[in-house]
Amino acid sequence: MRFDVLTIFPDLFTSVLQEGILRRALARELISVRLHDIRDYATDRHRMTDDRPFGGGEGMVMKPEPLAACLRAALGGEAVGRVILLSPRGRPYSQQVAREYAGLSRLVLVCGRYEGVDERFRRHYVDEELSIGDYILTGGELGAMVVIDSVTRLLPGVLGCRDSAANDTFSRGLLKHGQYTRPRVFEGSGVPEVLLSGDHAAIQRYRFLESVRETLQRRPSLLATVQFTAEEKKLLAREGLLEQVQVAAAPEK
Ligand code: SAM
Repeated sequence: MRFDVLTIFPDLFTSVLQEGILRRALARELISVRLHDIRDYATDRHRMTDDRPFGGGEGMVMKPEPLAACLRAALGGEAVGRVILLSPRGRPYSQQVAREYAGLSRLVLVCGRYEGVDERFRRHYVDEELSIGDYILTGGELGAMVVIDSVTRLLPGVLGCRDSAANDTFSRGLLKHGQYTRPRVFEGSGVPEVLLSGDHAAIQRYRFLESVRETLQRRPSLLATVQFTAEEKKLLAREGLLEQVQVAAAPEK
């Protein structure tokens, strides 16, 4: 999969791309990331990419021409891929959106700065605006990194089975159960006995129930999207959880 990033701060991406799973995915050519410096497409001698807003008001606005020229160069005449503008007023990002993006061959991520980008650039060139949360960042770069990271780990061959995405939080609408590693006792706290039992079916049941309990406690609305198997429903009923799950999953009146 190919990511093109339009930014005035390409160096921000260096360490993120040089460590861990992203570094390995790049080395194995499972992804490629091309960073395009919007300043290279500014035409005035000060390489200005922003200007004052028409109508007055605070801050600066990113000029449309350098953005458009940079995007045209990044696309290289190809119309493939989706052009995404990171923006706090965009579509909310989620694991589901990450999965959708992971099915595409190319994403172009445009990072705003200052007060944002000229509305005409957005209208003429952007396929969708994407928000990574209800807060304001200084720029879209961290959002672009979030997208690259979360999409990459969903691509075939990127994760080994040691850190498979299939059982991640959100993969089926349930939060992940708590996890334990050595030592067996930490500051007086032990590990749930079942995890030391070697009984894989019992461990699976325990983890499933813990996931359901965590989800009920922290994010009950997520349960509306979960499809439980008949066997899971039986287990939930036996543990006295089925009714709570059904109430949490029921549509609000
Ligand atoms: N004045 C803008 C507003 O009130 O919506 C905020 C501009 S913000 C300081 C600068 C840039 O950071 C935005 O153009 C966008 O690219 C990026 N950004 C900020 N918050 C974001 C978020 N929650 N999700 C995605 N991008 C964000």
